Amino acid sequence: ALTIGIVGLPNVGKSTLFNALTRQTILAANYPFATIEPNVGVVNLPDERLEKLAEIFGSEKILPATVSFVDIAGIVKGASEGEGLGNQFLANIREAHAIAQVVRVFEDENVIHVDGKVDPTSDMETINTELILADMQTLENAIPKLEKQVSGKKADKATLDAYREALTVLEAGETVFSKASSLDMEQLAQISLLTAKPFIYVFNADEGVLGSPERQKELADLVAPAESVFLDAKLESDLVDLSEEEAREMLELNGQEESGLDQLARVGFNTLGLQTYLTAGPKETRAWTIPQGATAPEAAGVIHTDFQRGFIKAEIVSFDDLVAAGSMNDAKAAGKVRLEGKDYVMKDGDVVEFKFNV
Ligand code: GDP
Repeated sequence: ALTIGIVGLPNVGKSTLFNALTRQTILAANYPFATIEPNVGVVNLPDERLEKLAEIFGSEKILPATVSFVDIAGIVKGASEGEGLGNQFLANIREAHAIAQVVRVFEDENVIHVDGKVDPTSDMETINTELILADMQTLENAIPKLEKQVSGKKADKATLDAYREALTVLEAGETVFSKASSLDMEQLAQISLLTAKPFIYVFNADEGVLGSPERQKELADLVAPAESVFLDAKLESDLVDLSEEEAREMLELNGQEESGLDQLARVGFNTLGLQTYLTAGPKETRAWTIPQGATAPEAAGVIHTDFQRGFIKAEIVSFDDLVAAGSMNDAKAAGKVRLEGKDYVMKDGDVVEFKFNV
């Protein structure tokens, strides 16, 4: 499965956030038998459509999609040079498919800041500098070799150009991801660059920030095009122990409509380039995870490889049409259920039944 690595300076609230994530994992009903690794938190992707579908189909249970987070041991200045935890840190981060950087914006004189003051810009710079330096090293090692291969006609000049342009971006102190629109990301996919991974910034905030859309916009603008999530890690870890209703009240008091963990799951899922489609029946209503842009047979393959191999067609109704019709039969009668073939590209909210040869 695709995972999101959680990084951040010491004392910014990573453990607090991760603790909330893992406690939610343990509580997640659909993971009773899974072995849970200590540094992995699996959270449900919130999806209100599932309950509605389960109602229509009288499903016994609901299985939401999930998002996996990996806690990556603390980054320190000098990590890119392999000091202390550095090497293990870099190895772990290389394995993650996206990076969620926790940034402290909460004020609390009882919690010591490693640099003596709360300064999100400087904190992000510290982390990103380490990642950028690691990537520069990777490219500086790769480019001379590639130059030889290109002059020997054993490699593509376009690859070399892409590497050189990426190095220029890094030398200017920018991450590859932040300049993805002007770089040849397809070529860069051949080399493992940490800053080419999609970034999410998790601002660990207090009421001051959570209550100020202006301050949030300022911070979000600072990191765009990367996504931002604003939450209070301490509050999130308290919410896990509350009933759904109590949790909702507590969030409302803080001016939030959705818990930070839910937001993080949603943003993370999107950032990983994933989407879901839905299946429903008397036994279960379920969300299945596919890459954005997956075709119907590829989507079928997520359920079972035999479904992909023997794919004939997919019977599809959009969630909205199904709900408007009230039942599958009514949707069919209204002509809202389509038969799609092997070239169909799945849309978010498709409710699907696959027809296949075994
Ligand atoms: P880590 O080193 O990044 O893993 O940080 P921790 O999760 O251990 O948090 C460091 C300290 O900050 C702990 O004493 C936490 O209780 C506290 N802390 C974490 N999140 C928050 C928050 O949102 N608000 C406040 N006031 N304190 C927090």
